[in-house]
Amino acid sequence: MSWLTQLARPDIVALAAYEHAAWLPELERLHANELPWRCAADPTLAGLNRYPEPQPRELVRRLASLYGVSPAQLLVTRGSDDGIDLLTRAFCRAGSDALLACPPTFGMYAVAAGIQGARLVEVPLRAAAGFALDEAALLAACSAAVKLVFLCSPNNPTGNLLSRAAVLRVAEKLDGRALLVVDEAYIEFAGVASLTEHVDKLPQLVVLRTLSKAHGLAGARCGAVIAAPEVIALLRKVISPYAISQLTVECVMSFLAAGNPAALTERVAIIQAERARLAEELGRLGLIARVWPSAANFLLVDCRDVEAAALALRLSSAAGLLIRDLRRLPGLEAALRISIGTRAQNDRLLEALR
Ligand SMILES: *Cc1c(COP(=O)(O)O)cnc(C)c1O
Repeated sequence: MSWLTQLARPDIVALAAYEHAAWLPELERLHANELPWRCAADPTLAGLNRYPEPQPRELVRRLASLYGVSPAQLLVTRGSDDGIDLLTRAFCRAGSDALLACPPTFGMYAVAAGIQGARLVEVPLRAAAGFALDEAALLAACSAAVKLVFLCSPNNPTGNLLSRAAVLRVAEKLDGRALLVVDEAYIEFAGVASLTEHVDKLPQLVVLRTLSKAHGLAGARCGAVIAAPEVIALLRKVISPYAISQLTVECVMSFLAAGNPAALTERVAIIQAERARLAEELGRLGLIARVWPSAANFLLVDCRDVEAAALALRLSSAAGLLIRDLRRLPGLEAALRISIGTRAQNDRLLEALR
């Protein structure tokens, strides 16, 4: 048994996986208690009366080729949120194991720890250094109880990319000790390569990718965990047997058909241009003290003070626009997060704040 498997919860390693109904499309199905005919309004090719294929092979292959990994290194999930939950449930024993995260960051890591009953160890990013990773503090905090280290790059809600060299150094140091999970939900907006290319050499590295952000498919609920095949095999025991709906499978397969990569590049370029324009314009407003550099499709802004932040929220909502209030997060007491909208939406926001 490799160290990766030893790191997981022993009860999950020992668990006999649920035996789902065999997937043998060449035979007729009288083994899954499905209705034998389709409903009239069924929009799918396969028929919604049938259970979908668990880990649909064509979709796994398509996503593996999109991300440049092998199908054995990829698990299709209901978005990255599902991947975060599966990793936490498979690797952290309730009441004893811990998950490490670096706030301010995506809230789901702490929620997943809370649901599983795992301890949350927090090593704050260094705001004074543009929310850079505190490598030494992180490694010092990695006790034997820490099974998973979550990093988010570009980080939500601060928008910055973590140093690739620093992340890879941390990965090397965690060899044999813990999994390093890098959440790359926004990587397409950053214009840099994904860390997926390192998963072959670094079996402790797990990369989370999603179709929810740059691919514009948040409503489809589709993401991927990219990891060593042993990690994927463990997660397959934990994911619910028919997790990915046939509607999602067919929708995603058609969206990922030839031609879409060019559309993605175009969309990303538009968002990047609007991001630069909005950052510059916001920086000129009296309410705003600082616009942080962003490699994602949102901007973190510090308002002059807490009252200025409250006013900015009221003005935006009066203009019919929702922006994210971050004031309850430590270190972000006057901060807001603004998603990059269409040019017209961004203009309306600027107008309202002026
Ligand atoms: C939006 C977001 C996700 C969630 O993605 P889904 O694939 O829609 O579940 C994951 N991680 C981060 C950092 C996010 O901001």
